[in-house]
Amino acid sequence: MSEPPLFPLPAVCNRCGRNCQPGTADPKARMLRISETSDGYCLDCAVTEWLRITPPICYMLGVHPQAGKWQQQEQKSWDHMTRGEDRRGPEMLLNEQVREQFGAVMRGGFAQASIANINWRWIVENWAIPFPPQRKEADRA
Ligand SMILES: [Zn+2]
Repeated sequence: MSEPPLFPLPAVCNRCGRNCQPGTADPKARMLRISETSDGYCLDCAVTEWLRITPPICYMLGVHPQAGKWQQQEQKSWDHMTRGEDRRGPEMLLNEQVREQFGAVMRGGFAQASIANINWRWIVENWAIPFPPQRKEADRA
């Protein structure tokens, strides 16, 4: 913990532009793994991205899954769950019980980040900040 940072210059979040600190990634972590490079998101933006793309919580939050990335069954679930119903929106993340459930998901995914470091108020207030376009490398076969 007291070792000097590997990167003398702070990294900047690709989404919100806040400073964040790369570190040593835990290979066992299946979600919210710390980036080893300066290319990535801060914790709050990483949590936001996870919430926006992971069924079923993205349905509960009223986020339409990204076109083309989802199975037909998931699209049906989305249509079913949103028909004639109010979408709950990201404000539900301020609910203690919802956050406790997310904590359980983090433990199950061996998340490297600590839930105590997540700023839920910031996440809700900055929910609409767009994510940068996905990098082309990910699409190359
Ligand atoms: Zn960020």
